Amino acid sequence: MDTRIGLGYDLHRLAAGRRLVIGGVEIPFDKGLVGHSDADVLVHALIDALLGAAGEGDIGGLFPDDDPRFQDADSTALLKTVMERLRAKRLAVRHADCVVVAEAPKIGPHVAAMKKTLTPLLGLAPDRLGIKAKTNEGTGLIGEGGAIACWAVVLLEPAGGQ
Ligand code: MG
Repeated sequence: MDTRIGLGYDLHRLAAGRRLVIGGVEIPFDKGLVGHSDADVLVHALIDALLGAAGEGDIGGLFPDDDPRFQDADSTALLKTVMERLRAKRLAVRHADCVVVAEAPKIGPHVAAMKKTLTPLLGLAPDRLGIKAKTNEGTGLIGEGGAIACWAVVLLEPAGGQ
């Protein structure tokens, strides 16, 4: 069996005057993540994990951050494009697991909505997508509330395999 794993990581700064979108879900908060697209840190980490496992480079190569087509882009639309590339290579996602590192806001209450948004795109049952939240224990830029980071791992197998 040709099993592939991928690891993704992303971080965006938090600033006033931006929407906060994580895992395809808009979260009410007084700050949002800064980036060329909607800066969805979880979806970006997932995309990099998927691309890494598929041998397809990284998110910056596929969706350059100086390309006006991706300004304020909905990152779940970028994820759909990545999933099309995986399908073209006959690869299917079997499992994904993510850790969001944020001092605030609380991520836990939004995990169900994130799963509802992301599992259909990934072709996964809800118990095959892990989304967990940690704080940074008050340390560093994340701990000061200046940024949110995310780690993601994915497992791919040939589509149609066991
Ligand atoms: Mg990013």
